[in-house]
Amino acid sequence: MIEPNVKLLLKNQGYETVGNHTRVKTCHWTKSDLRGEGGCYKHKFYGINSHQCIQMTPTFVCNNACVFCWRDLRYHTQPAMEGGIDAPEDIVDGTIEAQKKLLSGFGGNPKTEEAKFERAMNPQHVAISLDGEPTLYPKLPELVREYHKKGFSTFVVSNGLLPERIAKLLQEPPTQLYISVDAPNEELFTIIDRPIIKNAWQGLMKTLSMLPEIREKSRTVLRFTLIKGLNMDYAEQWAEIIRLSNPMFVEVKAYMWVGMSRERLEQANMPLHDEVKEFAKEIAKYVDYKLIDEHEPSRVVLLMKEDFEGRVMKFE
Ligand code: SF4
Repeated sequence: MIEPNVKLLLKNQGYETVGNHTRVKTCHWTKSDLRGEGGCYKHKFYGINSHQCIQMTPTFVCNNACVFCWRDLRYHTQPAMEGGIDAPEDIVDGTIEAQKKLLSGFGGNPKTEEAKFERAMNPQHVAISLDGEPTLYPKLPELVREYHKKGFSTFVVSNGLLPERIAKLLQEPPTQLYISVDAPNEELFTIIDRPIIKNAWQGLMKTLSMLPEIREKSRTVLRFTLIKGLNMDYAEQWAEIIRLSNPMFVEVKAYMWVGMSRERLEQANMPLHDEVKEFAKEIAKYVDYKLIDEHEPSRVVLLMKEDFEGRVMKFE
């Protein structure tokens, strides 16, 4: 349950709250796209219209406390949600209204094309990645279903620690399922992700072993976050994680020295784009994946076995 003083604090930080737990915040790249200054790397890699994307979460708690997380981890790290969860239908309607409210100011922005503003008032994509661990929201498959009923594409970003919850997602597979993998072995995982539940690494490995089956129904993505001086090593072990999960896509991305992570890490821990690219190529030497695309502003590269026609999806 969000206390009134926290609600006010969130509002001042640009969040809109919906119900008891749900939050929406305008993504940097949605604003950039509306100003005609370019969309996000998921626009380049997968065709997502950043100006039509809702960045949201049905929960703000997480069972990991990653050292590189930009979020304020106080009141954030918990094994489960507490207090009346929000209903999927209410979340969908509420987040659409919140998005329109958050973007309404662009209607008068001289840099924003009128047609693009009109489209932004009709969001078509949801990124369930804003905060917390979405699988801690017990009705995640139902929520994905409600967005699909409204014609949305859905990206779910999970830490994969709860394989039983990931398996439940097969009831309503998201358009794209991301599993964040921040370390090539259990020792480094424990140092970097600082999980608060037992057998977290085993849970993640179980989830990864399920991905070959899941990719029949959902586009599967591994996201590797590289932290210079901490996990940019053991290329062979990173490759083994790819081999285990056989994902459609592997995004190798730089840790970004932003937000509250600056209290836990140094600016020197943020690798340059070329360093990310070189290390991704190093990993690719040990597994039959190759570098297919890149987005320098986000310091991210895309590895795939083979590119394919429908990688960049078409949206009306
Ligand atoms: S897909 Fe992610 S990065 Fe792109 S606009 Fe949506 S929230 Fe932002």
